[in-house]
Amino acid sequence: MSQKLYEGKAKILYTTDKPEILLTHFKDDATAFNAQKKGQITRKGEINCAIATHLFQFLENQGIPTHFIAQTAPNQMEVAAVKILPLEVVVRNIAAGSFVARTGITSGTVLKYPLVEFFYKNDDLGDPLFTEDHIQLLELATPTQVTQLKQMALTINQYLQQFFSDRHLTLVDFKLEFGLDSSGKILLADEISPDTCRLWDTLTTDPKQKIMDKDRFRQDLGNVAAAYEEVLARVMSQN
Ligand code: ADP
Ligand code: MG
Repeated sequence: MSQKLYEGKAKILYTTDKPEILLTHFKDDATAFNAQKKGQITRKGEINCAIATHLFQFLENQGIPTHFIAQTAPNQMEVAAVKILPLEVVVRNIAAGSFVARTGITSGTVLKYPLVEFFYKNDDLGDPLFTEDHIQLLELATPTQVTQLKQMALTINQYLQQFFSDRHLTLVDFKLEFGLDSSGKILLADEISPDTCRLWDTLTTDPKQKIMDKDRFRQDLGNVAAAYEEVLARVMSQN
């Protein structure tokens, strides 16, 4: 017995027999610019599910608590039901995307240290950048939780940066979501995939060819599905 709980832009959440467990179905649908641009990427659901599964297992092995329980089909995973904190936690190693637009720093500039940013997860408002004071004022998370989120995000960044660099990919930036389990413990949730990470191929210097993530879709660069397939192959490789 399973009921559709929520259909998002990239995934569908279903209930299961157990209230503490949800089923996540990964879709081939792709959206960008707050869903103004819509399309499909062939096999994306299966690819992202496989990549996220591998990365959640990798991070669990490094001691990061995640919502991942099991992959139950090529495009489905069982996860712990959590109360999602309505924050997108972004870690940036290299200037790209909205950070370039906001700061004027040239795209591709290596940042002196990894930058953590918080965005209010609210499609109607276009996911605005929030300071910690905004987060307190709107009571989206406690100060202690914000400190924990930052620490977890930076630790995850260290593990993922090494993981991807071993596979000839530069982790430019990525977005994380976290949630609280029934005991109030913070778990890494949602997904980690080429939809949510910027990944640049270190094996080419061509500024367009090196892009291996959803920016290929955003910028109509072509070979989107092929890039996702290549990321999957590298993630699964023993390097
Ligand atoms: P959106 O369009 O909001 O980005 P997605 O298509 O990415 O949605 O679907 C996933 C939704 O499920 C997101 O809103 C995400 O915050 C939420 N979610 C992810 N993991 C969990 C979880 N373990 N428990 C509850 N909700 C989750
Ligand atoms: Mg999402």
